[in-house]
Amino acid sequence: MRVAVIGAGTGGLTIAAGLGGEGHEVVVYERRVEPGAVGAGLTLFGNAFGALDAIGLGDIVREVSSDAIARMRAGQRTPSGDWLVSMPSAMVPTLRSLHRAELHRALVGALPAGSLQLGQGATVAADGQPVVRVDGAEEGFDLVIAADGLRSDARALLGLDRGVRYAGYTAWRGVTVSGVNVHGEAGETWGRGRIFGIVPLPDERVYWFATESTAAGQHADDERETVRERFGNWHPPILACIDATTATAVLRHDIYDLARIPATFVKGRTVLLGDAAHGMTPNLGQGAGQAIEDAATLTLLLRSGELDAALSRYDELRRKRTRVIWRQSRLMGKAAQASHPIGAGIRDALLRATPSAFMGRATQSIQRWTEP
Ligand SMILES: Cc1cc2nc3c(=O)[nH]c(=O)nc-3n(C[C@H](O)[C@H](O)[C@H](O)COP(=O)(O)OP(=O)(O)OC[C@H]3O[C@@H](n4cnc5c(N)ncnc54)[C@H](O)[C@@H]3O)c2cc1C
Repeated sequence: MRVAVIGAGTGGLTIAAGLGGEGHEVVVYERRVEPGAVGAGLTLFGNAFGALDAIGLGDIVREVSSDAIARMRAGQRTPSGDWLVSMPSAMVPTLRSLHRAELHRALVGALPAGSLQLGQGATVAADGQPVVRVDGAEEGFDLVIAADGLRSDARALLGLDRGVRYAGYTAWRGVTVSGVNVHGEAGETWGRGRIFGIVPLPDERVYWFATESTAAGQHADDERETVRERFGNWHPPILACIDATTATAVLRHDIYDLARIPATFVKGRTVLLGDAAHGMTPNLGQGAGQAIEDAATLTLLLRSGELDAALSRYDELRRKRTRVIWRQSRLMGKAAQASHPIGAGIRDALLRATPSAFMGRATQSIQRWTEP
């Protein structure tokens, strides 16, 4: 088949590498001029690696990622550093962390030569015909895959958009320029309406994120200073992580997810994949993981050679799975971001009372990949 992929994010690159590996001809249109990923670090659970392995991409992503976090004490702490809950490492043995830019570099390296077209914004046909419009010219394909992110124009053009909604909090992300000693401890620290997360990267640097429940649309000239003000007096090594990050490299994004999951991920011969289909809050660390699952599911289903049957099964399987995770992620965000002292106090008490093995089991079905 000739397949057009719109968007070279995690989802678009994975499906393009997957289908390219099966011998299909792929063209990836990316409107950005630079191929590098926007973002800092990322964690991927076993489900993402199961899916990557199923299409032969697991090892190239393992090579650029680290399982150090799975061997550390990880879970939730209070701002003073007391553990609310810590997850037994056996519960998340396959959790790995990596820099987004490294993930994208690895996936770009797995694409068929010449398939990535940078600086090319592409548009789908509203009726789902497998046609792509680039710079006023139309090109026909057998299948079009729209992996154009949370604010997907393709989803809107296809008439499948139900809007995005603000999750009520903003997020900062950074990667330290040098190694920071985390003393074998990682995970999240939950305050009132604020969270700080520490994730060790393969080269001893640390990917950190911080969130705050607040109105959307606020920005400061020096976001690192904002983070320092909010989190600098929390337990070590939080301040060390902030200080070891270049001020201009601190990213800030308000968090949105899809207001509703589209009624279908498939229209005619055009398919939605990744955040375009099921943009979710980052609270379960599953957005990229689910984009990877989409890509592996579609790649494997297309092996049958029966395009319509494969697309309809993709729609059925992926909507069912991602709707649950999209909903749980938002609920988790609401609990984690609790800012009222009573709400936050109840949240902490519940966490303290929950056996960590139970916590691990509760997330295990999400972290399990099932081949179609
Ligand atoms: C703070 C934060 C932390 C996160 N942490 C994690 C985590 O730890 N683990 C995890 O699994 N997920 C995480 N996620 C979610 C994850 O980042 C996303 O789910 C994932 O990147 C989605 O990939 P995608 O390919 O669907 O979309 P995107 O990465 O958004 O890629 C879409 C691409 O399409 C391009 N594009 C858009 N329109 C067009 C067009 N018309 N023509 C051509 N190109 C176009 C864009 O330029 C972009 O490159 C996090 C998200 C946030 C906000």
